[in-house]
Amino acid sequence: MDLYQQLIIEHSKRPHGEGLRAPFGSEAHHVNPTCGDEITLRVRLDGDVLGDVSYDAVGCSISRASASVLHDLVVGLSVEQVAPLREAVQHMLTSRGEDPGDEEVLGDAVAFAGVARYPARVKCALLSWSALTDALLRA
Ligand code: ZN
Repeated sequence: MDLYQQLIIEHSKRPHGEGLRAPFGSEAHHVNPTCGDEITLRVRLDGDVLGDVSYDAVGCSISRASASVLHDLVVGLSVEQVAPLREAVQHMLTSRGEDPGDEEVLGDAVAFAGVARYPARVKCALLSWSALTDALLRA
């Protein structure tokens, strides 16, 4: 678990792909009022592929680290590949610790498995994924 916590801290300190970039196809702004986290997330599609996901995230280290990991995982994937990935993340996070996550599928996102044991923080980790889903629906 320590390694996972370190990974979350690393991502929150040096977020990958942070900043809002243009051009972009669609944008979503999501808020997690229970913690005060906010994210504005933009998606640029190149055909069916996520060419870029840029974002401005404000809030706790879990929400910001989650956006950073999301960026690493989804840029370069097709739209169809994102849905099962998001579902796997959501399943792990809402399992209350029963689903440890498959590193082969989730990559660095398995670092958030421990968050599932803290229901108050689950929304922090899911915020960027919800914003991504919303942005893709608007695209
Ligand atoms: Zn939070």
